Amino acid sequence: MSQVELIRKTIADDARDHFRAIVGSANLLHETHDMAGYLTDWTGQFSSEALAVVRPNSTSQVSQIVQYCNANRIAVVPQGGGTGLCGGGVPIDGKRSVVLSLTRMNALRNFDPAGRTIVVEAGMVLETLQLEALEHGLIFPLMFGAKGTCTVGGNLSTNAGGSNVVRYGNTRELCLGIEAVMPDGSVINALTGLRKDNTGYDIKDMLIGAEGTLGVITAAVFKMFRQPANRVTAFLSVASLSAATEVLNRLQDHTGSAVEAFEYMPQHAIDVICSQFPDIKRPLADHTGCGILVEVASSRAIDARELPDGSTQLGDEVMTLLSELMETGLVLDAMIAQSEKQRADLWRMRESILEAITGNGPAYHLDISLPLSRVADFVGEMDQASAKMGFQPITVGHLGDGNLHYALAPAPNRVWASLPLEAAKEAAFDLLGRLNGSFSAEHGIGQSKLAVMTMLKEPSQLAVMRAIKTALDPNNIMNPGKLVPEV
Ligand SMILES: Cc1cc2nc3c(=O)[nH]c(=O)nc-3n(C[C@H](O)[C@H](O)[C@H](O)COP(=O)(O)OP(=O)(O)OC[C@H]3O[C@@H](n4cnc5c(N)ncnc54)[C@H](O)[C@@H]3O)c2cc1C
Repeated sequence: MSQVELIRKTIADDARDHFRAIVGSANLLHETHDMAGYLTDWTGQFSSEALAVVRPNSTSQVSQIVQYCNANRIAVVPQGGGTGLCGGGVPIDGKRSVVLSLTRMNALRNFDPAGRTIVVEAGMVLETLQLEALEHGLIFPLMFGAKGTCTVGGNLSTNAGGSNVVRYGNTRELCLGIEAVMPDGSVINALTGLRKDNTGYDIKDMLIGAEGTLGVITAAVFKMFRQPANRVTAFLSVASLSAATEVLNRLQDHTGSAVEAFEYMPQHAIDVICSQFPDIKRPLADHTGCGILVEVASSRAIDARELPDGSTQLGDEVMTLLSELMETGLVLDAMIAQSEKQRADLWRMRESILEAITGNGPAYHLDISLPLSRVADFVGEMDQASAKMGFQPITVGHLGDGNLHYALAPAPNRVWASLPLEAAKEAAFDLLGRLNGSFSAEHGIGQSKLAVMTMLKEPSQLAVMRAIKTALDPNNIMNPGKLVPEV
């Protein structure tokens, strides 16, 4: 063993001994096969090595680990459920790193039904939080396909969005306070859950969406909402994407802004889903228009009242409006879910899309947002431009909030490796710039979008981000190589 290798081994052994003393042997993993599941990201694109995976079960343990890492210049990579799509939760090459897995910190600390708030630890799985709320007739409305695996710490750190943003906002808007361990090991306790607290810079908002680069979130206070008394879920075939915006606004106006989800699902996306999951049934046998999965929900008891024909007040209101929209030609066809099973089937179809695209073959995933009035322009122009280059995009999106998941996939009989992907990306980013869009809507930056971040983020904003990062984390131990491009 060379002198350098010997020094490296000593540092690694010392660090592991130290962590073992904090979390116990069972929660310190360092054998390659034990760490494997923590070192490759969900997409399979990013993989690296680590000194160890450490699994603390308290804020004090997290603080001790971070303090040691800061003193010894060891990178800390916080990890929740590992469902992030940008390679943010795994180490980068060339840095001595530990993966800090938060999944054992999953306790419910406080439930306040009167204030409709809940305090939970960062490692709680999103679906567990949803079920806790439901037990009290409340909902936690953050909703997307990875809910059974992702953690609330990951949701906060990526400021996750999903299907219900149109009504409830993204994770940032659902959070009233956090507890976090800062890069020097100090603990910030801002768990009061106040809805008003104008006492200076909002440190919570700085850590939300920071992807673990400014500290480790250990707990949070979230808002909850009354469980809807009635929901109407439908699949619509709408005349065009521009018509879809009109349909959304008419539905909002007609129902008192009760639209919970408004999801874009064009025919081609449904074809891909059905080819990958043959048991999933098409909601409309032969729809040529623009597919929209819409959900309207009301917590008013009167909206759940059953009418003589067996429908409900809310169902009747939605049906009346849809009939009007059909007469004007904005809506071409509609399927209304008649049971909880039909509703679940529609959502299963929507939430299968990412796995379906992954199973379908290679693709480059754009997660972008646009002003609602420009979405149709983007899709129209980009579909044409990318088709000329040999791509057949697979598009879905949380259309209600202007977010598109636009996957550049090869057209039939085209070979992925021979396609001009860089030119297609450039065309998309150029178009986004012209239409005032964003190159990252809800998945974040991680490692995969660092180059785009360097290229497209306004330099003055990047400078502020770098100044904050350097001030709080002068040794650059918190999740280095993610989110903030290094100079
Ligand atoms: C099938 C599928 C569907 C998805 N749909 C959506 C969607 O609709 N909307 C959406 O927004 N996302 C979606 N995602 C992406 C992903 O689920 C979210 O980004 C989620 O919030 C990540 O949570 P996680 O616990 O898995 O985080 P991880 O993947 O473990 O980590 C993500 C990032 O957060 C950091 N981090 C994790 N925990 C902490 C912590 N406690 N403190 C500080 N930093 C931390 C990590 O370092 C990393 O940078 C989807 C993913 C999949 C696989």
